Amino acid sequence: MPIPGHTLVIGAGGVSSVAVHKMAMNPDIFGKVTLASRTISKCDAIAKSVHERTGQTVETHAIDADDVDATSALIDRVKPDLLVNLALPYQDLNLMEACLKTGTNYLDTANYEPLDTAKFEYSWQWDYHDRFENAGLMALLGSGFDPGVTSVFATYIKKHYLESIRTLDILDCNGGDHGQAFATNFNPEINIREVTAAARHYEGGKWVETPALSHKQTFDFPEVGARNMYLMYHEELESLAKHLPELERARFWMTFGDAYLTHLEVLQNVGMTSIQPIMYEGREIVPLQFLKAVLPEPAGLGATTKGKTCIGDIATGTPREQADGAAEKTVYLYNVCDHEEAYRETGNQAVSYTTGVPAMIGAAMMLRGDWSGAGVFNMEQFDPDPFMDMLNRHGLPWQLVELNGPLEF
Ligand code: NDP
Repeated sequence: MPIPGHTLVIGAGGVSSVAVHKMAMNPDIFGKVTLASRTISKCDAIAKSVHERTGQTVETHAIDADDVDATSALIDRVKPDLLVNLALPYQDLNLMEACLKTGTNYLDTANYEPLDTAKFEYSWQWDYHDRFENAGLMALLGSGFDPGVTSVFATYIKKHYLESIRTLDILDCNGGDHGQAFATNFNPEINIREVTAAARHYEGGKWVETPALSHKQTFDFPEVGARNMYLMYHEELESLAKHLPELERARFWMTFGDAYLTHLEVLQNVGMTSIQPIMYEGREIVPLQFLKAVLPEPAGLGATTKGKTCIGDIATGTPREQADGAAEKTVYLYNVCDHEEAYRETGNQAVSYTTGVPAMIGAAMMLRGDWSGAGVFNMEQFDPDPFMDMLNRHGLPWQLVELNGPLEF
């Protein structure tokens, strides 16, 4: 792909806002950025902020990304080198179809999820591998923080520290406070579907399922402090189990405050998190979609959110320098991101920032040719070094420390 290249970003929420600002700050890679979403006023608001902060111009369009023909027509008109999907997981397959139809490369941050079933898995998108390969196109899946950076962290640890990773724990802590009684830090519908799903982790070559939010542990997060975290299922576990076959165990943990969990329990108990349609005053509505409509927009939480996020990987395995049977080593590779600093730079809180920056970096990897190939790929399939270097230089610096041993739970 050429640089500076032309990127078409789809979706105009918090993650998109960060990614488009960061692209505009790097015109040597992103020569032109076009932004299209369902609500054009949201695109225009992002374009205005980008122009005020960077002097760059972003062209905007209205598009329903579920309409493959309309999206293909838009792509044919604007002729991007790369489409960056920052809409919702429901749009992934339709946007991949539009990319195939128009000969365009593709990137996203979340794997496909059907609207009527709260379930996500890579198989639907991995099934596109041959079609992308035959078309000579590249699709990069999951270029956010988790999934995204967490997979790059795993391959970086494997490349530089551990010959093979035996156990991997991914820890996602949002130690921020937005000052609202209840709000989610990214799309409420997707967030609540994810949190209320059964937990699943990988152990001994099998998936072990446990009830949602039933395993709680406390961890002392760097720069945040002790927080309760809960075992969850998360999509990078599926691709990491496939691409790092030596893994004996892989788990994902996310922190939740007591107030968030109490609100969620009440909402679940009264049926507000259901995705089964109900009739209301002669009209069919989905309770979770109605709930989303009354909750704060994640993109609007930036001004009031204080505190930090800390997301990282704890990996245990055989050290590189002693590959033949020596004692194991445990390393913790993480990033800390400050909500208020993120807001000052792009007008968005740290959860959007920690997703939008890796989306920009993944797009840069593709445009610059650091990561290339024909087919559908996950983040851990490429050399982590150029990506890790850009994290340090574009707002998400990381730290690596050695721990005394793996997590004792
Ligand atoms: P938001 O809900 O804030 O934004 C989503 C945007 O997509 C909105 O502008 C919405 O339009 C637009 N959209 C929805 N449906 C369509 C459609 N059919 N056609 C065109 N545009 C559409 O979400 P976030 O910014 O918080 O999240 C964006 C993505 O990032 C999600 O897929 C989420 O799962 C993912 N994510 C990934 C993370 C990671 O670390 N990998 C972490 C956090 C999020 P409208 O404004 O009209 O509703």
